[in-house]
Amino acid sequence: MRKPIIAGNWKMHKTMEEAVDFAEKVKGLVPSNAQVDTVICAPFLFLDRLVKEVSGYNVKIGAQTMHYEEKGAYTGEVSPAALKGIAVSYVIIGHSERREFYNETDESVNKKVLSAFRNGLLPIVCVGESLEQWENGETNEHVGSQVKKALQGLTKEQVKDLIIAYEPIWAIGTGKSSTAEDANKVCEHIRQVIENSFSKEAADSVRIQYGGSVKPENIRTFLSQPNIDGALVGGASLDPDSFLKLLEASI
Ligand code: PGA
Repeated sequence: MRKPIIAGNWKMHKTMEEAVDFAEKVKGLVPSNAQVDTVICAPFLFLDRLVKEVSGYNVKIGAQTMHYEEKGAYTGEVSPAALKGIAVSYVIIGHSERREFYNETDESVNKKVLSAFRNGLLPIVCVGESLEQWENGETNEHVGSQVKKALQGLTKEQVKDLIIAYEPIWAIGTGKSSTAEDANKVCEHIRQVIENSFSKEAADSVRIQYGGSVKPENIRTFLSQPNIDGALVGGASLDPDSFLKLLEASI
């Protein structure tokens, strides 16, 4: 019913040469758009070139963050209008590394999500709990609150289109993934929160990715869960063969 969406999050990896080499190797081998949505979220510097490289193939390009204002005196920032202007399609908003190291808050995440829609970009909204919250049984409460705050002010139609990435912080880059069953339960809770705040239709349509140490060897167990519709992948998205294996496993 919901098409899988696999997104690579390259974080601060690769040079331009490596980014272009990756695109050249991967673009002709990705499954069709009828089977899976494919996204690569790369550092700003590579986006324009990557959009051109993958044009005509089933690969869309995403940014890893953006400012919420269309323009202004914000030294070092990149605007949503600038991203749209080079035909970037997606933008990751509120990744736990941005929340931890760059002071992103539920409030700024919400401003960015609203701004992404105003500017024709599709947000991949990241939520997730710390190890302490997980151990204290506070996951649903925390993640539910993050989702509610991030989506405040959106229309039901917008919620249907966006992507949520559930990433337990303790599973990111640690090699320690959540069990598929546990992740599914949190994603089910996220759907319930969306149904309560928006509509059943929005809850049934929104795509929820799992993220955190996803690899070609474990992606199937996550995607076989009823409430998980894709993956946001860091480390295992950097190698072309590994990325292609993730896509093959998703169809
Ligand atoms: P990882 O990163 O796959 O390397 O754990 C996931 C993410 O941070 O999006």
